[in-house]
Amino acid sequence: MSKGLADDGGLLLPESIPVLSSAELKAMADLPYAQLAFKVLSYYIDDIPAADLKGLIERSYASFEHPEVTPVIAKDDLFILELFHGPTLAFKDVALQLLGNLFEYLLEKTDAHMNIIGATSGDTGSAAIYGVRGKKGINIFILHPKGKVSPIQEMQMTTVTDANVFNIAIEGTFDDAQAIVKEIFGDLDYKQKHALGAVNSINWARVMAQVVYYFYAFFQVQKQTGCREVEFSVPTGNFGDIFAGYIAKEMGLPIKKLILATNGNNILSRFVNDGDYSAAKVNHSLSPSMDIQVASNFERYLFYLYDQDAERVCKALETFTRDGVLPVSAQELSQAQQIFSAATINDTETLATIGEFARTTDYILDPHTAIGVQAGKQVRSGDCPLICLATAHPAKFGDAVHQACDKYPELPPAFQGIDKRDKRLKTMPADISAIKSYVDQHALS
Ligand SMILES: *Cc1c(COP(=O)(O)O)cnc(C)c1O
Repeated sequence: MSKGLADDGGLLLPESIPVLSSAELKAMADLPYAQLAFKVLSYYIDDIPAADLKGLIERSYASFEHPEVTPVIAKDDLFILELFHGPTLAFKDVALQLLGNLFEYLLEKTDAHMNIIGATSGDTGSAAIYGVRGKKGINIFILHPKGKVSPIQEMQMTTVTDANVFNIAIEGTFDDAQAIVKEIFGDLDYKQKHALGAVNSINWARVMAQVVYYFYAFFQVQKQTGCREVEFSVPTGNFGDIFAGYIAKEMGLPIKKLILATNGNNILSRFVNDGDYSAAKVNHSLSPSMDIQVASNFERYLFYLYDQDAERVCKALETFTRDGVLPVSAQELSQAQQIFSAATINDTETLATIGEFARTTDYILDPHTAIGVQAGKQVRSGDCPLICLATAHPAKFGDAVHQACDKYPELPPAFQGIDKRDKRLKTMPADISAIKSYVDQHALS
């Protein structure tokens, strides 16, 4: 469970997805967040004593500023699921606060250590760093594309000066950074030598933690509206968050559709709408955490789409690498379309959405969340409540908000004075051997 990738380079998945009865669902409906998380995670984790797991979960979510952890707010004709009340103000804290505690617990039990390597387009890195800073038995190396994350994201990462935290700024794109990390994990000797672990969104434990808030949100909205089913709109980059929604749906949560919202880097929405899975150049947008073309978690979904035929997934990905197209049949595409709807929202529409939402509701959306809200408005089916995932606090992307509605969102207390703190980072070329030798020098052993 602490391994991010299978030894064949594939992505680990649970043996099967449990399907909950309506009685089981009903029994969860009134649970506070941490207790609900315990219930959901217990379907997947059987090697941690219940009391320990409860303690880890309680501790992880005590770091959130909101008593409900992920509150649901009615606005306009939809619901906003606020996922940004953790220490780095983005949804990735929900998974990574838990993951840091889980890792430390499991390592301590086996008297082991681990070196985490990850690539980030912004939010994962800071959330991962905050998840494991100061934890025993763990060193963390986070690669980010230099100058391509927001100033606040950059400061959040580089102002953590704990001895176990190593920030690396890569001269390249997020995809370059991710490719390096993937290649490092593909070197099995190296992986073993340094006891490497992954923490970016290709980690199953993260997906599992994110499944919880789909349940939580559904129950809140059901209580308010009496609805039988809901739709979720999910600002999507690496397909981690929406994959958790897919798992929740497979577990029996009544989700009518998952709306996959992308910015102009839209390989995934092209796939859902037209079966066109062809990579294009990554363009810098106002929603940098979604500036991704090749989404690693998408492989996991393909595994289910291809009827759990791992060999076929490998072959399809080989074809994709060679020819730039993914082989899917018309029948498979229509199967995907029964689960997902999709829309692409460009920067102009993103700004317009932030502006209009602020005017009509007095609520400030961050640019990622705005993409989900706009995509939801465009493709929702309209016959059940729409829940839009708010993936970041607007203060993290203050410049975009200012551009949209002429004011800066207020900085939460945790951010004040961040620009004056000490920084620690290393700038490096996007070169795998340079990165490996840096890790060699600083890894825990
Ligand atoms: C990471 C992130 C996303 C994209 O999530 P994926 O799991 O990569 O699809 C969207 N919005 C924000 C603010 C993020 O940090």
